[in-house]
Amino acid sequence: MTRVLVVEDDPRLVRALRINLRARGFDVEEAPDGSSALRLAAARAPDVIVLDLGLPDMDGVEVVKGVRGRSRIPILVLSARHATEDKIRALDAGADDYVTKPFSMDELLARLRAATRRQEAPGAVRAEESGVVTTDGFSVDLVAKKVRRGGRAVRLTPTEWHLLEILLTHPGRLITQTRLLLEVWGPTYRANTNYLRVYMAQLRRKLEADPSHPRYLVTEPGMGYRFEP
Ligand code: CA
Repeated sequence: MTRVLVVEDDPRLVRALRINLRARGFDVEEAPDGSSALRLAAARAPDVIVLDLGLPDMDGVEVVKGVRGRSRIPILVLSARHATEDKIRALDAGADDYVTKPFSMDELLARLRAATRRQEAPGAVRAEESGVVTTDGFSVDLVAKKVRRGGRAVRLTPTEWHLLEILLTHPGRLITQTRLLLEVWGPTYRANTNYLRVYMAQLRRKLEADPSHPRYLVTEPGMGYRFEP
């Protein structure tokens, strides 16, 4: 049974989450604030955390940092529609994904399943064990730095390679624009989102069957990019 820790201070939302998650076979624990969230995350080792960013005692981002200090439990962030900056800060601190309030239960459940599945994602395991990421569309040898698609070798520029490597080593995770720009181009270029658009378009032309409707290298508008294994 998948154990979910729900961190949320709105009792009505907690109740709705509890009823819906239990009905789908999840085991639910609840924390109404950040300090009990950190305590329960350590004591009970849940499989996934659903975390509201607006908590009474501390900023939800601090909870992300506290959990990430010792574990890789998937963290799904709940955030208000206007709070894009908060979502980005949470993702940069190590949250895996986000859902914007108000959300549908179906959307939340889909994100939860994706987050827990990624824990055992075959692509991720293969990448860690052998350094090779294989999809139905292409394969990437992260150690030998070789990419093949449809039986042919694909040539990537060093910048394209760097971007692809970051995305592939975090399968399913939303990586923010800022993080990609910082890691690939450095602090001077942290606002140059146009670089990302250009290089992601190039990568898609090389790797995707239909570059204008990418299957693997997905854009989250205004937020960042993710590799969907
Ligand atoms: Ca709240």
